[in-house]
Amino acid sequence: MRFSALRILKEGLTGNKGWQAHWRDAEPKPAYDVIIIGGGGHGLATAHYLAKRHGVTNVAVLERGYLGGGNIGRNTTIVRANYGLPGNSEFYSHSLKLWEGLEQDLNYNVMMSQRGVINLCHSDGQRDAFARRGNAMRNQGDDAELLDREGVRKLVPFLDFDNARFPVHGGLYHARGGTARHDAVAWGFARSASDRGVDLIQNCAVTGIDVENGRVRGVQTSRGAIKAKKVAIIVAGRSSQVAAMAGLRLPIESHVLQAFVTEGLKPCLDHVVTFGMGHFYISQSDKGGLVFGGDLDFYPSYAARGNLPMAEHVMEAGMAMVPMIGQARMLRSWGGIMDMSPDGSPIIDRAPVDGLYLNCGWCYGGFKAVPGSGDAMAHLIATDSPHPAAARLRLDRFATGAGLMDEEATGSQHNLH
Ligand SMILES: Cc1cc2nc3c(=O)[nH]c(=O)nc-3n(C[C@H](O)[C@H](O)[C@H](O)COP(=O)(O)OP(=O)(O)OC[C@H]3O[C@@H](n4cnc5c(N)ncnc54)[C@H](O)[C@@H]3O)c2cc1C
Repeated sequence: MRFSALRILKEGLTGNKGWQAHWRDAEPKPAYDVIIIGGGGHGLATAHYLAKRHGVTNVAVLERGYLGGGNIGRNTTIVRANYGLPGNSEFYSHSLKLWEGLEQDLNYNVMMSQRGVINLCHSDGQRDAFARRGNAMRNQGDDAELLDREGVRKLVPFLDFDNARFPVHGGLYHARGGTARHDAVAWGFARSASDRGVDLIQNCAVTGIDVENGRVRGVQTSRGAIKAKKVAIIVAGRSSQVAAMAGLRLPIESHVLQAFVTEGLKPCLDHVVTFGMGHFYISQSDKGGLVFGGDLDFYPSYAARGNLPMAEHVMEAGMAMVPMIGQARMLRSWGGIMDMSPDGSPIIDRAPVDGLYLNCGWCYGGFKAVPGSGDAMAHLIATDSPHPAAARLRLDRFATGAGLMDEEATGSQHNLH
């Protein structure tokens, strides 16, 4: 079924009775060429690109809950390519280009909105750092513009420019960044993968990974054993637990990140804006709610809900940056389990077990990575060689120390990234 304006009109006039389920609810087969563990954004995107670019369709995505119930449906939906270091730079640039053609590729409205991302700076030193980052972005072929204080004021006039402690000095403007509707992204990739022959199997938890003589043979699941030539672990916050099933110890810690949304307001915030003196980012959803978030809860956890001190901390940062949000009522908050790597950058690599592949370490930023990660992961699985845009996202950088991508320059500390 293809979506089109004509189809929407026809369905609207005939009681919306002709829509079909977006994907087949498949039963597990005894064996597959490729098993993807995890039906989040990255797992589903990998399935799509495996089928589309490499013709590999004897694939199952095994999801222990329901598709899109993990972080892909819990994030603050920010998409951007404003990284400064080699490795991240080319990877996120590649991902943003895929975002720009994603709706056509999937024939699905993911509500991609390139409304621009503004990172505020509050000191001369921070402005210098943003100038350097902006130059790196332009060298990579992406857009970046350094705004002075008046330039920022034109775009977001209601910030607290004269906050005595954190006066706004300017900002780094990335016009091609923005937001997309997070769960539509999962549904669009799921629909495309399923249409191309991939089995999407929900309520199927992987409980063991079968390894014989250093080679993966399949998985044990809550719905029985399934054989596979290749297995990809793409489970975000559960990466360490699932990798341990194959005897691996990953350099990943799981932490909770919360997000918050206010009641619906009339349009008042046209961009994504981030605070430079604390970890705070905000945008307005198409329904009108102000969607924002901040730091991790500062201890490892598998609970998909957060604590109140961090909620207070995020509200304080928000009030310091844009005091008008104090007028809005908070509707909801929730949490997701983040796979934090020591340098804050991801891993897309072969595991030290033949036929086993790793995709993890997305930290705060895996939503924007979804198409790029799916493309790179599919390439790795199909060809056993890294995709050029993801060649530096290697696991062994944590063993050797060479090639670490510490974007925030905070040192190797999971809870700071
Ligand atoms: C509050 C919050 C805000 C965020 N904001 C942003 C943002 O603005 N921009 C951005 O770029 N990123 C953001 N992120 C990060 C981003 O959402 C994640 O990095 C990304 O979604 C992780 O990849 P995923 O979609 O594949 O994960 P998930 O959706 O979590 O998918 C992993 C799946 O694996 C499944 N699974 C786990 N164990 C097993 C098992 N044993 N067997 C079978 N299945 C299993 C899980 O059920 C889950 O569905 C945010 C995250 C959170 C929590």
